[in-house]
Amino acid sequence: MEIGKNLAAVQLEIRQAAEAAGRNPEDVRLIAVSKTKPVSMIEDAVEWGMLDFGENRPQELAEKFLQVPGVRWHQIGQLQRNKVKYIIDKASLIHSVDSLPLAEEIEKRAAAIQKVQDILVQVNISGEESKSGVKPEDAAALCRRIGSLPHVRICGLMTISMAGLSPEGNFEVFSALKRLSEKIDQEQIPGVFMEELSMGMSHDFKEAIAAGATMVRVGSSIFGTREYR
Ligand SMILES: *Cc1c(COP(=O)(O)O)cnc(C)c1O
Repeated sequence: MEIGKNLAAVQLEIRQAAEAAGRNPEDVRLIAVSKTKPVSMIEDAVEWGMLDFGENRPQELAEKFLQVPGVRWHQIGQLQRNKVKYIIDKASLIHSVDSLPLAEEIEKRAAAIQKVQDILVQVNISGEESKSGVKPEDAAALCRRIGSLPHVRICGLMTISMAGLSPEGNFEVFSALKRLSEKIDQEQIPGVFMEELSMGMSHDFKEAIAAGATMVRVGSSIFGTREYR
């Protein structure tokens, strides 16, 4: 697996997509999604300059945190309340907060270690039944509630697009998240910052950047396809 080559290709595509949209490529952070992949591959990516890694299972994040120090870990997958304890002292950003009870658990655990945990609110913008994420119409209210928690800081929104959409369809989904973040931003809710938009994966990060993504979560284009056993 030629991780250096893959990374260079993804970084070039990010740069080109940003420039095509009249954006500064520096404003798009690449998060290398290393779920299911061995530590040796992560170390390889670190040598190529990667600093941000995403995992979707809390225990896997916790293990890799200990094995690969000095990088930032992102919890990008669904997070159950009883798993918050595994990552609270390890996650730089939790992308997948979609309910008040989950945010309250993060508040409790973060307060106990005197940390303010950065999070994103995950929105089910495409309205798919199976997807996690708060409904778009409920997102502002959830932000208001979470905004009052002193040890949780909302940095922006996250979404996963629907499978099987055309590039135009993905662009529409991502643009809808961008508009929602602007709308919430206008409310000027204390403790709520609409600075980050985490959207776009291997197959759709270019459309996400065109729509305003500040973080793209790319796995298979860097590390190869995943095998689940
Ligand atoms: C796995 C995963 C990704 C990366 O997917 P790829 O298609 O491999 O790039 C991005 N975001 C989330 C939430 C994921 O679970």
